[in-house]
Amino acid sequence: MEKADKGKRAQKRLPRARAREMLDVLEKTYPNARSGLRYDNAFQLLVAAILSAQTTDKQVNRITKDLFTRFPAPEDFAAAEPEELEPYIKSCGVYRNKAKNIVGAARMLVERFGSEVPNDMDALMQLPGVGRKTANVVRANAFGEDAIAVDTHVFRVANRLGLADAKDVLHTEHDLMKSIPREKWSCAHHWLIWHGRMVCRAQNPKCGGCPLRSLCRHYAGTHKSG
Ligand code: SF4
Repeated sequence: MEKADKGKRAQKRLPRARAREMLDVLEKTYPNARSGLRYDNAFQLLVAAILSAQTTDKQVNRITKDLFTRFPAPEDFAAAEPEELEPYIKSCGVYRNKAKNIVGAARMLVERFGSEVPNDMDALMQLPGVGRKTANVVRANAFGEDAIAVDTHVFRVANRLGLADAKDVLHTEHDLMKSIPREKWSCAHHWLIWHGRMVCRAQNPKCGGCPLRSLCRHYAGTHKSG
């Protein structure tokens, strides 16, 4: 059954040439796409990425300046109690959990990883508050690894376009790794996020002005002629 399922998904996946056409359009449309989070090093990116769950990058950037001034290094976070972080991150949503996770991650980094953020997926995912998406954000942006972090925008846009054909983020990531040449994984992640924020929004996507309209599976399905 699982094999048959895989076969069906493979059949539905886009031909490579068409995927490439989409990527060319995205690259031309968003040549400067990059992470919206501000950070000076891998650890700051890790903290910012944990904080960014359920809030915007702008909101995270508003608070991290003061947070990193008060707690400049992993050791400073590790020595703190989560409650000490809370006043700094209150505006970021689910802040109590985030404070616990950040302190927990900092302690683990200090105790097990010599205060360095690892670039290895399995090691990153051992850290409290770090799932696959956050680990991929860190690997791609802090270490220049080829990785595709699937957030809500990437999931929605990739599946609308047909670059992926999946019901969950893990299969979406796997589909994208097959549809997109490896050297473009990290850039494509940013292009899809920007497209999702600016054009292919969750509610009322702006299909009329979308440069991908002629290639988009969702558009073709919702605007059938005849
Ligand atoms: S045509 Fe519409 S659904 Fe397709 S990518 Fe563009 S905005 Fe999204």
